Amino acid sequence: MDHIYLDYNATAPIRPEVLALVTTIMGEVGNASSVHRFGASARAHVETARRQVAALCDVPADQVIFTSGATESINTVLCGYRDKPVLISAIEHPAVIAAAPHAKEIKVTSDGLVDMDDYKRLLREEKPALVSIMMVNSETGVIQPVADLAALAHEAGALFHTDAVQAAGRLDIRLDNLKTDFMSLSAHKMAGPQGVGAVIWREGLELPKFMLGGGQEKNCRAGTHNTAGIAGMGLAAELAVQNMPNYTNITKLRDDMEAQIRALTNNIIIYGGQAPRVGNTCNIGLSGVPAQTQMMALDLDGIAVSSGSACSSGSFKPSHVLTAMGADETAAKSALRISMGWATTSAEIDAFISSYKKIIQKAK
Ligand code: PLP
Repeated sequence: MDHIYLDYNATAPIRPEVLALVTTIMGEVGNASSVHRFGASARAHVETARRQVAALCDVPADQVIFTSGATESINTVLCGYRDKPVLISAIEHPAVIAAAPHAKEIKVTSDGLVDMDDYKRLLREEKPALVSIMMVNSETGVIQPVADLAALAHEAGALFHTDAVQAAGRLDIRLDNLKTDFMSLSAHKMAGPQGVGAVIWREGLELPKFMLGGGQEKNCRAGTHNTAGIAGMGLAAELAVQNMPNYTNITKLRDDMEAQIRALTNNIIIYGGQAPRVGNTCNIGLSGVPAQTQMMALDLDGIAVSSGSACSSGSFKPSHVLTAMGADETAAKSALRISMGWATTSAEIDAFISSYKKIIQKAK
């Protein structure tokens, strides 16, 4: 078997239909802001994509603007709240943490869910203007009850932003159902191209301005459109909606895999295993075996997964998500994330289990 890719939460393989479209449009000339026919053709690609992304979130097309990725989308929303009180959860993506350094952090439970008592206390005490809580955690797959969290924020007079990057194509992300005011998305986590994202916001609200310059995107986001990437995001969004029913197959693969691993050893912990999770993600700690050792062993068998710890300047720090959930440093450094997606097969999961079995046996 070829190399096995089980790191969809880092980036998903692009769908062939999306690749074909992006490649074709890359070969076309035209700036979407130009008035001549070449510009009009590029603009048509952008507007088609806008309708496709709007359909994913069930909003009018003019409530979508395109960005260079979710990191920029998140910065766009949060830059409007630099001088105002903000709440974020303790397990947000670094983009949220860095874009709101003044924010107060809401604790999470050992299951990785927002601690409701702490949230209500902070809403009372801090009187935030904005709350930003991710819909699905990238490391554990744990799903937050976003509609309930947003309703509480509104009762307290705050607006609500959700980073829905890991939810798109896996869960219903219609803006009204989630009761959220702002939402950030990324194309490459839903089998679209890298380097493109979107911000979605509720009609009647003003979107903060982050990228300043030309008047693109109705003056909301300056910079020449990444036409090919945007078109790819649009098609990826459409395919994500069409393929949502297949997600149950992925959930079954993940659940079967976890059951088989549990049958092999008691020496594991599945982070967020007791909470609602998206079906493609498994974060598994194997006590006493550093994630780097596990990853190297899997890599030798041609299997790519990721660790719960982020490498920064050559040293591996424990994941802030797992430590916020109460894992100690050593435990957090022993966690692997296996994330699956549209092209994952049961044969690949079988190969992962055989390889992981060897690691368990060595640990014994
Ligand atoms: N938010 C979450 C939950 C993510 O997983 C990621 C990607 O790692 C991002 C935000 C950033 O997205 P992008 O790569 O489009 O900037």
